[in-house]
Order: sequence, then C-alpha cells, then structure tokens
Amino acid sequence: MDCIFCKIVSGDIPSNKVYEDDKILAFKDINPQAPVHVVIIPKEHILTCANDINEDNSAIVGYIFTKIPEIAKLCGTEDGYRIVNNCGEKGAQTVFHIHFHLLGGAQLSERLN
Ligand code: 5GP
Ligand code: ZN
Repeated sequence: MDCIFCKIVSGDIPSNKVYEDDKILAFKDINPQAPVHVVIIPKEHILTCANDINEDNSAIVGYIFTKIPEIAKLCGTEDGYRIVNNCGEKGAQTVFHIHFHLLGGAQLSERLN
C-alpha cells in the first residue's frame, strides 16, 4: 500500500518519534501548525478516518486516547492541547491512515478552523 504513514512505521520514511510502543507511534508533524504538533497513529493501517470507527475496531482508538496524556506530557504540553482528526477530503484529510493531531505548546485560538 502506498501510504506515507505505513512507510514511517516501517522506517522507509524517517520521522522524529516522540512515543512508540507495539501498537502506536507518535511523531512530529513535518509541517507544524503549532509549537507542538504531533501525529499519533496506530501502526496497523486498518482505519482511514473517524468514519471507519465501529464497535469491532474501536479498541485501538481507545488505546490511543489512553496514551494521549503521556504523549502530551512528553511534549511538555500537558497543561493544554487540542486533538484533531481530519476526516475525508472535505475535512482536509490528506493521509488516509487514521491519525490524531496533537496540537499545543501555546495558547490555542478558540476557533477550530
Ligand atoms: P491530515 O491532513 O491528513 O489530517 O494530516 C496529515 C499530516 O501529515 C499533515 O499535517 C502533514 O504535514 C503530515 N505529513 C505528511 N507527510 C509527512 C511526512 O512525511 N512526515 C511527517 N512527519 N509528517 C507528514
Ligand atoms: Zn498506512
């Protein structure tokens, strides 16, 4: 599969990793939109975006969310951050391997777009 994030998981594309375990990977976004901008992905390419989540496959999403506080702390933004999932082309999604943006490191705007 020609997927940038699968290539990051395999190491074919280098990344600045901030957290990794057997199920998930968090790495710095190449085009940061905030002082802290990390992309958190499941290593397995099973979902494309939030639209694909269902009762049978949601465990990995729940697992990512249990790790978010730890990842935020590793990035020094545990005092506040935003989690974003861009879903579909109208949601401005560009990489179709489900991922959650962790944005922080500054006072974020009240606006979400
Ligand atoms: P999306 O727009 O799909 O929600 O987010 C994809 C994100 O992946 C974008 O913020 C983009 O900057 C980031 N990205 C795309 N290619 C690479 C890459 O090769 N390395 C890293 N670290 N981030 C990437
Ligand atoms: Zn993938």
